[in-house]
Amino acid sequence: MKLNDKIYVAGHRGMVGGAICRRLDALGYTNIVTRSSSELDLRNQAAVNEFFETERPAYVFLAAAKVGGIHANNTYRAEFIYDNLMMEANIIYAAWKYGVTKLMFLGSSCIYPRLAAQPLREDSLLTGPLEATNEPYAIAKIAGIKMCESFRDQYGCNFISVMPTNLYGIGDNYHPENSHVLPALIRKFHEAKAEGKPSVTVWGTGTPKREFLYADDLADACVFLMMHYDEKELVNIGTGEDLSIKELAELVKEVTHYEGEIVFDSSKPDGTPRKLMDVSKLHSLGWKHTTNLPKGVALAYAHFLKKAHFPLA
Ligand code: GDP
Repeated sequence: MKLNDKIYVAGHRGMVGGAICRRLDALGYTNIVTRSSSELDLRNQAAVNEFFETERPAYVFLAAAKVGGIHANNTYRAEFIYDNLMMEANIIYAAWKYGVTKLMFLGSSCIYPRLAAQPLREDSLLTGPLEATNEPYAIAKIAGIKMCESFRDQYGCNFISVMPTNLYGIGDNYHPENSHVLPALIRKFHEAKAEGKPSVTVWGTGTPKREFLYADDLADACVFLMMHYDEKELVNIGTGEDLSIKELAELVKEVTHYEGEIVFDSSKPDGTPRKLMDVSKLHSLGWKHTTNLPKGVALAYAHFLKKAHFPLA
């Protein structure tokens, strides 16, 4: 990837796409193309083809997706499968049709079977049933992986797929119901402190375990793999370390200096019991994360505070 190659970052308004743009910018890439969803509806095949025909990007980071936490995935099941299938099908097809040199598809750790052996190895894909709460999203992401593989098999396209673990960081979604657990907890603890509430309610039992990666670290890994990885097989991107939701809540409580109690609402779903990535392949390729969880949560909270005077979506 040369510094003046045209690079399309799909989903640049999102946390991941935004972090990829910042990383490319910091490395001196000068020819980054983006479109907001109001300028280009990625679910519209004709519009996507027209965009690729006009812009002819050489590299594509496919970071556009409809994403959300356990509640959003479970509630907006139709949009999670439809929007994601359409966006990735249109972009991957256009990347083939208009001769993109290399495309990176970003998936998710939820593509792996609910009860796959931990840590989750890349080759556990399609070895068992999925977690029900995010099955529509996972099926769409699995379809994206299989599209990349199929265009590679049939046409020799250099399309690669990477599977990030749970992410958080700058530009995250802090919606009270629809966000992922980490931004949800940052907001809940912050507001409970500001309002002097005696307790914060955390969904589920607190026992599920999750791994978290700072979005800027993910972006660094994506650019690294775009430069150095050309194989068909998936690559997991994570830290290789996890903690329980209870431990996570205690960490967020500490970072936000909240002094009240933590209460668990076990009427809310736990989701997958554990989702820890096997990152041995990523490490053997020469990449490792640099932001540990306490530091990342402090950075995310500092960023949240800067924006907290705006109405939160
Ligand atoms: P998942 O990794 O796909 O299950 O998605 P989430 O990040 O939404 O949830 C991870 C875990 O955190 C689940 O066990 C949730 O029940 C739990 N959790 C606890 N409190 C919250 C909360 O306020 N919001 C969300 N989204 N999850 C929460």
